[in-house]
Amino acid sequence: MLYQSTRNKDLTAGSIDAVLTGLAPDGGLYIADPAALSFDWKAALNMDPVEMSAAILSALLPEYEDMKALAEDSYRGKFTAEDLTPLVKVKDRYVLELFHGPTSAFKDVALSVLPRLVTAGRAQKGSEGDVVILTATSGDTGKAALEGFHDVPGTGIMVFFPYKGTSPIQELQMTSQAGGNVKVCAVKGNFDDVQTAVKKIFAKASDMDLSGQTLNSANSINIGRLAPQVMYYFKAYADLVKEGRIKTGDPVHFSVPTGNFGDILAGYFAKLLGLPVGRLICASNINNILTDFIETGVYDKRREFYKTTSPSMDILVSSNLERLLWLLCKDEAKVSRWMKELSENGIYTVDEEVREALAESFDCGYADDEKAKAFIGKVFRETGYLMDPHTAVGWAVSEDFMEKTQGAPVVVLSTASPFKFPKACLEALGQEPSEGEFAQLDALEKASGINAPQNLAALKTAQVRFTDVITPEEMEGYVTAFLKERSEK
Ligand SMILES: *Cc1c(COP(=O)(O)O)cnc(C)c1O
Repeated sequence: MLYQSTRNKDLTAGSIDAVLTGLAPDGGLYIADPAALSFDWKAALNMDPVEMSAAILSALLPEYEDMKALAEDSYRGKFTAEDLTPLVKVKDRYVLELFHGPTSAFKDVALSVLPRLVTAGRAQKGSEGDVVILTATSGDTGKAALEGFHDVPGTGIMVFFPYKGTSPIQELQMTSQAGGNVKVCAVKGNFDDVQTAVKKIFAKASDMDLSGQTLNSANSINIGRLAPQVMYYFKAYADLVKEGRIKTGDPVHFSVPTGNFGDILAGYFAKLLGLPVGRLICASNINNILTDFIETGVYDKRREFYKTTSPSMDILVSSNLERLLWLLCKDEAKVSRWMKELSENGIYTVDEEVREALAESFDCGYADDEKAKAFIGKVFRETGYLMDPHTAVGWAVSEDFMEKTQGAPVVVLSTASPFKFPKACLEALGQEPSEGEFAQLDALEKASGINAPQNLAALKTAQVRFTDVITPEEMEGYVTAFLKERSEK
């Protein structure tokens, strides 16, 4: 299976090169049509989650020689749930818990695998020199990438986060990171400033002195971040067959709290591989640009940006939507034109063909903070099940969908542990949160009767290792200094 740029079908790459380079040279994203594969999706349903992951990854990234060992190495013993992503029945719905990895966020599912795809790919290609991951984060990706890459031989990782721009727990998760190959630094500015500076460094990397090393990204523009996320759609489906809720072949609907459109696109990949996915419900918070887009075909980012209690979904340009557009029309000229219009004018309108194709698979909706909060409280009071604010957006949006299910189960993807967002959860349970996130964490344990994940509770006594604060202009020099220091070790 050959990958190509979403913007030019002549820019192709094998699956390993697609992972190792991240972005196509023309700025497009690497894509191939999963529907073109003959994948035995029914056989995959009988596998355990790690084998299932290996089978799907082998199909999507066929150049890798030993995906089984790679998946074992990525997951076995690394998650607190034996079956990686448990499916929990809550009232009339199912919640697919994706947060049992090392940092209690769903990004662990992919970032446990990506480092191994990078190192195995480089070994297979005989690449020389270390690869250093450069990441800008608004909170969750940075920590999950650090956990994935720390002490992985042949790699280094640098994470930049906005100074005072993350939650105190998220900051401490990063600044206390262990490992001999890691660097974490705060940058004065907001997330966009940090992200823009990182992109600039990537753009000029070929002219920089990298001391014999290569730079790569851990963001979901990399197909190696996206491919591992397909597994849990299969896993949820297999669980529903096992418990007798459905028969193999029946449809299942999924409601997905969406930001960069990676998680939900993985669901579409699952569908293209043959899994009987019913509707994919794209759930947004008040930054509801995707709701408008799916309803009208107009993508208009010229709008106010809101900070919400579901910060990982506060995003106006969803990178992976570009991959979906290509999958829906297979027309590079059109995709290029829309992306150009987006960057030049901040708006584009897709044609009727794409609108119809979108409507065939996707539903959409949004929930503001008040609505999400109301559902955290209601579901907890009725069932004792506690959702985080991102999950609550997925739940709230699926509420209106329940009368349209035609008997098929609805799975709400749960993307974070509620203990990552203790303040919002306490408020939803009707409690007055006290000052300080650790006090809130304790209070949430008491109020809910649920224990916080060990990795979060352990932060109370964590030692801060990284205290640097720099400006965006200083980042390039900071990167080259780190690379030089590594090369001299
Ligand atoms: C990243 C993230 C999302 C959004 O996922 P996308 O793949 O970017 O759409 C939702 N919830 C949480 C908690 C996240 O960390």
